[in-house]
Parts: sequence; C-alpha cells; structure tokens
Amino acid sequence: MKSFAAVERYFNQAADRLGLDPAIRELMMIPYREIQVQVPVEMDDGTVRPFVGYRVQHNNARGPMKGGLRFHPQVDLDEVRSLAALMTWKCAVVNIPFGGAKGGIAVDPRHLSTKEKERLTRKFVDGIHEVIGPDTDIPAPDMGTNAEVMAWFMNHYARYHGFSPACITGKPVEMYGSPGREEATGRGVGIFTLKLLSRLGRLPSQTTVAIQGFGNVGTHTAEFLRAADCKLVAVSDVTGAYYAPAGLNVRELESHIIKHGSLSGFPKAEHITNEDLLTLEVDVLIPAAIGGVLTEENAGKVKASIIIEAANEPIRPEADDLFEERGILVLPDLLANAGGVTVSYFEWVQNRQIFQWAHNRVRQELDRVLDQAFETIWNRSKDENISLRQACYLVAIERVARAMHLGGIV
Ligand code: NAD
Repeated sequence: MKSFAAVERYFNQAADRLGLDPAIRELMMIPYREIQVQVPVEMDDGTVRPFVGYRVQHNNARGPMKGGLRFHPQVDLDEVRSLAALMTWKCAVVNIPFGGAKGGIAVDPRHLSTKEKERLTRKFVDGIHEVIGPDTDIPAPDMGTNAEVMAWFMNHYARYHGFSPACITGKPVEMYGSPGREEATGRGVGIFTLKLLSRLGRLPSQTTVAIQGFGNVGTHTAEFLRAADCKLVAVSDVTGAYYAPAGLNVRELESHIIKHGSLSGFPKAEHITNEDLLTLEVDVLIPAAIGGVLTEENAGKVKASIIIEAANEPIRPEADDLFEERGILVLPDLLANAGGVTVSYFEWVQNRQIFQWAHNRVRQELDRVLDQAFETIWNRSKDENISLRQACYLVAIERVARAMHLGGIV
C-alpha cells in the first residue's frame, strides 16, 4: 500500500466511526495545495544538477500550515502528500493552532558538500517563497535537514520578504531558534514511553529498548530513556545496527559518530542488520528512521510488546493489523513524535514576540501539552475500546471538522 493510501485508510475508518459529513470528509482528503518545483543546483565542479522539490499544504482550517522539510533520496509526491496530511492530524492531536504541510527534495544530502546543500536550499526557497510564510505555511527540519539548513532558509526568505524569523522553525538557538527545539521530538518520545510503561505497571529499570535510527530523534530519545534508567540494548543508523545485550553507553555512541561520521565500526557491540534490530528480544521497539520498515513480512517476527512510532509511518497498515491481533501496543506517530512540532509552535510564538523563553520554560510547556494530549488519547482509546491510533484520528478529525464548521468552510 502506498503512503497516502495508508493515511487514507486510517482516516476512513475514523470518519466512518464518526459518521462524518460527506462534504467535510471529501474536503479533508483533498490537499489545499500541491507544489512541485525544479531545483537546479550548481555543483562544486561547475556542472548543474537538476533536483525536484515538493511542498504539499494539506489543510489550514485550524491555522497556518506546518510541517518539515526532508532531504532524502526516497522523497516523492505520494510520500510528501501523506506526511502533510499526518501533520494536520498531529497538530490537532496536541491541540496547537496549526494545519498541516510537508516538503522535501529527492536528494541524498550525504553526497553534497555544505556549499552545495546551501545552494540547494536557497534554490528551493526561490521556487516556493510566494506560497509560504509566517501566516501561511511554516517549514521545519526533518530527515536530512537541520538547524543550519533552516538558517539558510530564513536568510533567503528575507531577501524576498524582509526580516521574518517566524517563516521557519528549528533554527539555531542564537539565530531566533528556541532552546529545547532540537531535543523536543526525542524528549517527547521518551516522555510518552515512560507514560505507557507506567500505565502498564512496568518499571523503566526492567525495560530493554532498541532504537532504529540514531539521528536527531534517535539520539535524544536514547539520552532521555537512559537517564530514566531504561536499558538501551540496540541502536542503528544507515550503516547497520549495533547490539549489546548488557547495554549501550549513549555518550560513547555519540562520540563515535562525532569522530567517524556514523556508527560504522562501533567497537563495543555486535554488528547486526537494521532488519535484525526490528525483531530483537526487547520490551520496547522504537523505529526512529524512515517509513515503512515494519511490514506484513516481518511483523510476525517482532518480539517487543510495545512499539513507539518515533519516525513517521514506520508501520505499514497490514503490519498494524497484525500487531493489534497479537496484542502489541503501538503508540502512533501522530502522538509519539508530536513533541517536535509543539516546540516549533513555541519557537514561532517567541519569534512573533521577538522574545526568547528560557529552556526550562520550554520544557515545562512541552510537558504540559504532551501530558494533556496523552490523557485525551489514552482515555478515548479506553472508553471506546479502540487502538491509540484510531483514538488519535477520532480526536484530530473532530477538531479539524469543528474548525471547518466554525470558519464557515463547510
Ligand atoms: P535524521 O536525518 O537526523 O536521522 C535519521 C537517522 O536514520 C540517521 O541515523 C540515519 O542514518 C538513519 N537512516 C536513514 N536511512 C535509513 C535506513 N534506510 N535504515 C536505517 N536507518 C536509516 O532524521 P530525524 O530528524 O531524526 O528523523 C527521523 C524520523 O523522525 C523521520 O521519520 C522524521 O520524519 C521523524 N520526525 C522527526 C522530527 C524532528 O523534529 N526531527 C519530528 C517528527 C518526526
């Protein structure tokens, strides 16, 4: 099943349950706007390479649209469209005043120099600056992009529209970014993992964890869960997975990456494949890399009893059904990784006030928003005896439908 079809399937299940008005239902699945642009980039050797960039704006009933910008070879319109819809539901689940969007360029950033990446970013801004902005659509980092890319983006947007730090979030802290933004998604994943363990009566100190993906989200999740006393037994990146049943030291993993550029050759663990990591004997499995890694083929072999979707769409719907049948508890992406967009919202608020919050204020506000969202989704799931994913969709669709109704859209 393609990416957008998967989102559509979950949406339809929830819409049926809610008896959603047919006109609202149809409008909710038609993106507000889709843009595809050519991104010609001059390479360091003087040649020009053409790339393709996308921005899909899904729904703005609840506010300006918000969503990451991904540099990854697998980016295509179908994937960006589904991720844009996910952002609409995610912002509604955590109840922040944004709609959803997503963007990306089909490129492997590891094969670009810093200057080439900068030119790519600036060319992309040339292509989309007219349809984005602080009150319209606000991009953020995602796979393959980071604070540096966001700073180039802000600088280039300003050439067209003047000083507008709120046009993008996830910027460096000393360049209108927010303290706590970089850690926010992983911190949120960690907070939710502890909440689930507590609801299930389990102790962190007796919990083993495997994390696929050791980038922004994976590293901060690992740091948070290690500090909470969980035992991290496996992590991975694009070079493979690293397994140590006695436990891994997060600092040592991070130092290895700083020194060698990846986890490749990490000496204090057994080297296994990314596929092996997914089926390890652990309590909690956290896919935090790419989409579609848990499928009909490998779902039957998963041994974890809890899966936290730190990445977007890591579980294919067929695998999701199997996990439900097998009683494996899945915390869906719509809630699990919403800490990032929540602090992006705080960054946007700070930018509009030209006032920076202290780090502990950001953490306090984040904890409050995530706590409320967790209670709402957990209770809905228990009250109606439905999965946490269906509970997320029900709550999100109701909130977006209400905004569409109040705004007189339908
Ligand atoms: P990142 O680029 O910082 O890290 C990605 C990690 O995944 C790296 O360790 C990379 O080596 C690994 N990886 C890439 N391809 C892989 C493959 N084929 N197999 C195994 N590992 C692979 O990205 P990130 O920001 O940490 O994002 C990770 C996921 O979390 C994405 O799905 C993203 O959409 C989602 N997410 C990120 C944020 C955020 O704030 N950064 C917010 C919400 C959701």
